[in-house]
Amino acid sequence: MGRRYADAVSAAGGEPVWLEPADVLGARDAVSVLAEIDALLLSGGQDIDPQHYGEAPRPDAGITIEPERDAAELLVTRAALTTDLPILGICRGIQTLNVAAGGSLHQDLALLGLDAKVHQQKGVARTDWEPAHPVAVEEDSRLAALLSVTRAEVNSFHHQGVKAVAPGLVVTATAPDGVIEALEDPARPFVLAVQWHPERMVGHHAGQRKLFEVFIAAARRRK
Ligand code: MN
Repeated sequence: MGRRYADAVSAAGGEPVWLEPADVLGARDAVSVLAEIDALLLSGGQDIDPQHYGEAPRPDAGITIEPERDAAELLVTRAALTTDLPILGICRGIQTLNVAAGGSLHQDLALLGLDAKVHQQKGVARTDWEPAHPVAVEEDSRLAALLSVTRAEVNSFHHQGVKAVAPGLVVTATAPDGVIEALEDPARPFVLAVQWHPERMVGHHAGQRKLFEVFIAAARRRK
């Protein structure tokens, strides 16, 4: 599990450290966990329990939760924000970042009445690295600067999405149907999260490699 995240971090010159929920929940505090690392990558996974953004799970939303991961990730993400640790969020990771910072999620994009299929790769692309849909990237964002484009094609493996954007975060990429695909905190050294899976695209898309390179450069500055 997590090999492709680790490979993408290594290829960008970083040294991956995999944290299990027990590593965080069993530690003295989240700050002591973060003392061991120079940056935090929030990886993909199942759904965040809606209780963390003040909602009950909708029975029709098809939600699968990972309670221990929720607890551990919300703890370290809030600590990372407090200490200005560089953060890269991927898929579930953009959702973790948004919820940790006080935002909320759409429990199921299909319930919004939009075509949720394009956000689930299946039937849209043949491989997991081929794009499923385009995103419009905000011109003055860090994301536009590092991708060198304001329109990118991305893969997509999510049935949920960002609803209310947390205070301090700004939307920097959006799908044609309005689904939020990237968030940044312009006031912090490096806080960037994407709804797609760049670690599955790095072998074929230089721009997605750049995402990891800039993240690792931020970690190095921190060190
Ligand atoms: Mn998508």
